[in-house]
Amino acid sequence: MKIKEQHIGFNVEAIRKDFPILKRKINGKPLIYFDNAATSQTPQQVIDVIVDYYSNYNANIHRGVHSLSQEATDAYELARHKIQKHFNAAYSHEIIFTAGTTHGINLVANGFASLIKENDEVIVSALEHHSNIVPWQMLCERTGAKLHVIPMNQEGDLELSKYEALLNSKTKLVFVNHVSNALGTINPIKSIIEKAHDVGAAVLVDGAQSCPHIKPDVKDLDVDFYVCSAHKICGPTGVGMLYGKEKWLKTLPPYQGGGEMISEVTFEKTTYADLPHKFEAGTPNVCGGIAFGAALDYMNAIGFDAIASYENELLNYATDKLLEIEGLKIYGTSKQKTSVISFNVGNIHPYDIGTLLDKMGIAVRTGHHCAQPIMDYYQIPGTIRASFMFYNTKDEIDVFISSLKKAIVMLS
Ligand SMILES: *Cc1c(COP(=O)(O)O)cnc(C)c1O
Repeated sequence: MKIKEQHIGFNVEAIRKDFPILKRKINGKPLIYFDNAATSQTPQQVIDVIVDYYSNYNANIHRGVHSLSQEATDAYELARHKIQKHFNAAYSHEIIFTAGTTHGINLVANGFASLIKENDEVIVSALEHHSNIVPWQMLCERTGAKLHVIPMNQEGDLELSKYEALLNSKTKLVFVNHVSNALGTINPIKSIIEKAHDVGAAVLVDGAQSCPHIKPDVKDLDVDFYVCSAHKICGPTGVGMLYGKEKWLKTLPPYQGGGEMISEVTFEKTTYADLPHKFEAGTPNVCGGIAFGAALDYMNAIGFDAIASYENELLNYATDKLLEIEGLKIYGTSKQKTSVISFNVGNIHPYDIGTLLDKMGIAVRTGHHCAQPIMDYYQIPGTIRASFMFYNTKDEIDVFISSLKKAIVMLS
């Protein structure tokens, strides 16, 4: 990846030039995009990779002897290696391409249906996205296993002593997100994983919300499964990855049957392909996988340390400004947070504020953020969520604050 020299030292104005969408006007106003926790924007370097793929070497992979198929296969497998390196996995066959976080979680939950028995126990955290709740509920319904929940507190942190009390020899699986999409809390996953392993349980970490801000090291974490989506890390939608420890991926049965995932097919018996292909039935999102690799190149060239420290500055700046507004309450005040701020103002419905902000060119999220249990805990229908990426600026936050103040006046 060619990274422009002016990016060195973190020059946000230079970085912004990489993102064509940031030039857009919305309702006559310059776009201020603060809905990054829902999806991130795509730099030209990644868009170029997508255009190049369809312009020059679009082909089906792993099967053709012809040159285009070879080129596409090589680029796709190179992307798998980039992902392996980024997450520090031991083997590239521990990286399974998926359609995204939701797909990866369902793949694992489905696989465990044959390993979990009645009266086994599984543990989920109170801070989860619906994607990391519903597949496990379905698993429990199928198997008769019991689902326990690690409770949260007012700050939006998990109550770890209660987690420890839930663990026992019947615990088979623990699912927790690395970062909460609704509140931004960074969970202490290393110690959560360690404690689960002490009782012999496996852990799946939903990294959808951490990967844009943190570079996870799956070896150091000793995590069993880690999932994420490319579209939250400057890549395209509809592609993601599942990291699984080799021993688990060998143990789990395939998720879907079809082409690519087989070794030999007869009507009597089919044998499955080796990893990673066992879990990659059908023609994958070839272009998406290649672009995912390019997105990681792009972000690594800027550097995750630089990204995290800049985003932390944005978080603190916006938090201080928001707290000056009368009647404004922030949900999620953990000391360990990414650049996500969920808030409400008095009794104003979040949707009304979101609609007025859109009129002023500002994209924020309103609602329950696919995390209804968190909203129930605070006894609110939803929040307004502003989430920042490294291409946002303090100037944008200033415009956001003054627009928010205008909206509040109009709605009071
Ligand atoms: C976005 C998100 C998901 C779902 O990701 P998809 O790309 O829609 O599958 C799951 N968990 C968290 C924490 C998220 O932020």
